[in-house]
Amino acid sequence: MTEHTFYEYVKAHTTDFFDYIRFRSISAQNQEIPETADWLVQQFNALNAQQATKWNDQGGNPVVFAEFKGHSDKTILFYNHYDVQPPEPLAEWRSDPFEPTVNDGKIYARGICDDKGELMSRLTAIQYFQTHGGLPVNVKFFVEGGEEVGSPHIEDYVAAHREALSSDVCIWEGGGKDENDHFQITCGLKGIVDFDLSVTTADKDIHSSLAAYAPNAAWRLVQALASLRSPDGKVLVKGFYDDIEPLDDTTRAFISKMQFNAEKAANNVGLKRSLITDDPAYQLVNGATMTINGISSGYEGDGIKTIIPKAASAKADCRLAPGQDPEKVFDLISKQLVANGFTDVKLHYNIGEKPFRTNMNDPFVKLNERVAKSVYGNNVAVIPNTPGGGPAYPFYDVLHDPILMVGIHYAGSGPHAPNEHIRVTDYQQGTVFMMELLDAYGKEGEADAK
Ligand SMILES: [Zn+2]
Repeated sequence: MTEHTFYEYVKAHTTDFFDYIRFRSISAQNQEIPETADWLVQQFNALNAQQATKWNDQGGNPVVFAEFKGHSDKTILFYNHYDVQPPEPLAEWRSDPFEPTVNDGKIYARGICDDKGELMSRLTAIQYFQTHGGLPVNVKFFVEGGEEVGSPHIEDYVAAHREALSSDVCIWEGGGKDENDHFQITCGLKGIVDFDLSVTTADKDIHSSLAAYAPNAAWRLVQALASLRSPDGKVLVKGFYDDIEPLDDTTRAFISKMQFNAEKAANNVGLKRSLITDDPAYQLVNGATMTINGISSGYEGDGIKTIIPKAASAKADCRLAPGQDPEKVFDLISKQLVANGFTDVKLHYNIGEKPFRTNMNDPFVKLNERVAKSVYGNNVAVIPNTPGGGPAYPFYDVLHDPILMVGIHYAGSGPHAPNEHIRVTDYQQGTVFMMELLDAYGKEGEADAK
């Protein structure tokens, strides 16, 4: 099987799964969820899955699970989601968001990048092998329908179906090319804890002349917040950094080679002050942060209103590095507020996701890198983890698989935005990469068996 054959095949079959895009599977609006899940089960069956089924037992939108038998004993598990973001604002779309539109070498549609295109690409790879002598490895699919609303049931599904999901390695939904058009292999995700703070200092707003004696909720809250973080971004919560895993040499070497363009980063958003760190590369990979997302209190309208606000509230998040735990971090923050004398500041836990990082020395990382170089040349970057998050941790924790993110989009794809798109060539290359990867992983399995 030469690369040429793969390319020819992918070019001839680029539009095979376009029907998938035509479902308006918008989880936030509860649209066409059962229809999309049923369609997927049908597709998996048409591709001769050993098993294709819907799981409903843990609540929420059904998870579509499928299993294919291959020639070697190795098993790859793919994670994808069939739900998409709402297409609004509709006026900004240049084509129907639910009609895949090829224009200028790009495919436009809601979900083509995040995340239906990824699954279409993977189905095309499966289709190739199923019509050319069978799959080189066992393949399983976990396709959920609630990712865009926070994957509320994912932990329960993974725990309840750990046996069915057992696998050697896992490939996560997304990935692709960075700003420099380098193909990325991403080994992990940061975690997050998201929480609200609030304080009430009176039953009603008070005339500001009485600031002579009355406490002020806005001051109270900003002083509480200021006690948690220094101006240079250091979190002043006892024990906050303690659980961060020390970096191994490979990860350290990666960070030292990272080319962070401070000027470009600043210009992208028009930063008015200098960066808060001397080492942004390290901070992006392994730094933990505390961020105020918004604060409200008192009078915020036009003109003058001289009051003392009775209440104040804020929204905040912490991005967490591998090793940290969202619930524990939340607990440490509450304790610190009490220790700092802010017993009246109330905290509310919204969501948490644990971080993880696959060992960058894992043989599956090396295999991905080797295969990627055969498809993309030297423009390949192995990334320890993204600064963002996702619901991958339960798979890592329960299945003990290395998890990698590789995919078909590029830096301009605009997921969640109007005119979401991918480039046809990236789609085809990414699909060839996946075919090569399955092929190479199968050969590894055969070599192991000997
Ligand atoms: Zn996604």
